[in-house]
Amino acid sequence: MLEDLLLTEKRHLWHPFTPMREWCAPGHEPLLLVSGRGCVLTDQHGRTYLDGNSSIWTNIHGHGHPTITAAIQAQLGKVAHTSFLGFSHEPAIRLAERLVDFFPGRPLSRVFYSDDGSTAIECAVRMALQFWKQNGAPERTTLLCFDRAYHGDTLGAASLGGIPLFKGSGNDFGYATLRIPDLEALQHLPDEQVGRLAAVVIEPLIQGSAGMRPWPAGMLSRLQRWCRERDVFLILDEVMTGFGRTGSMFACQREGVVPDFLCLAKGLTGGYLPLAATLTTERVFEGFDGAGRAFYYGHSYTASQLGCAAALGSLRVFEEEQTLAHLPEKIEKMSQRLARLAELPQVREVRQCGLIAGIEIGPYPLEDLRGAKTCLAARRYGLLTRPIADTLVLMPPLSVTLEELTRMTEALSLAIQECPLPEEKA
Ligand SMILES: *Cc1c(COP(=O)(O)O)cnc(C)c1O
Repeated sequence: MLEDLLLTEKRHLWHPFTPMREWCAPGHEPLLLVSGRGCVLTDQHGRTYLDGNSSIWTNIHGHGHPTITAAIQAQLGKVAHTSFLGFSHEPAIRLAERLVDFFPGRPLSRVFYSDDGSTAIECAVRMALQFWKQNGAPERTTLLCFDRAYHGDTLGAASLGGIPLFKGSGNDFGYATLRIPDLEALQHLPDEQVGRLAAVVIEPLIQGSAGMRPWPAGMLSRLQRWCRERDVFLILDEVMTGFGRTGSMFACQREGVVPDFLCLAKGLTGGYLPLAATLTTERVFEGFDGAGRAFYYGHSYTASQLGCAAALGSLRVFEEEQTLAHLPEKIEKMSQRLARLAELPQVREVRQCGLIAGIEIGPYPLEDLRGAKTCLAARRYGLLTRPIADTLVLMPPLSVTLEELTRMTEALSLAIQECPLPEEKA
């Protein structure tokens, strides 16, 4: 039975971001995840693992949480999905109310739903471009973005990204972009280029797929000031950082920043169902008022009733379990454990922002795939995670216990110690 299943898997499946020759090789048995409770996932043989990257950065309160499960089940008893084109429904309304309430005074007063992180970004960018086009500044067509940025994999979102490897078919597609390494580079932009900017797009506080690289403190608030002074929209991609990962509900709140567009996805439903939201201001909304100005954009599963129910369930758990209030001690514990990892000779640098960590090993030759091998080794010690090149990611669900954090970092430590010493230290 299991053998048949695995044969079919290798014969017919194609996985994202995965070299498939190695995957399909006779010696490789794909891990099938069968069930989950809290931070623990169980595979086809009944072996258990800690979910060290929150199931690709999505899970917030752990797996199988009774509150979120019940919220989805209750919704399922009514209706699973109805169109949001021309109709509305209570879960979407209630969720929008909760989302706008996260910012005092409700500066982000409008919620546009879509399905995932990439589409949340597409919505923001297309709204920004259409806004300028129909409000007297059609020359504002360029998106300013950053080196090593990651904003998703659809054509438009990928064109904003600054990681060449992720562009597949080349870099010459999508939006007109201007790419800079850091805030200093802003000061050197010619006025003529600034005048053509529609928006700046950034992952606030920390770039994720770049290898968990935090920005300098204060960078975000300086960027906001720069944008305000020039009336350039600020689009914040909080697809990874949203919902508590950095220690606050949203990363931008740590620097008192309110963007023109806030893009949310991954953790929005607690990691249970695909759903995304793009929040924006009344000013942007009003720029779409009038004949022929509607925002012609939407997906079939936009504002999924089940997804909205799951998101409401997740927000209820934030309150019931005081999730944010418990974060400081977990973040502190993670820092202590990371400091120990930093002492290993194989570790080059550790980077942390809230409960997000990148442990960079090496340097090793790229073709060694040392990061991937180390994560496979960690699996033998009961931890599941994925590397970004030679940076090992540790991003547990916010519900992680102190004891689980210890076990996660212990598994990483054992796996890292299986690596040879980097050349410069050997
Ligand atoms: C994952 C991610 C995205 C893309 O989200 P998907 O749901 O995978 O489309 C966009 N931006 C950031 C910062 C992300 O981490």
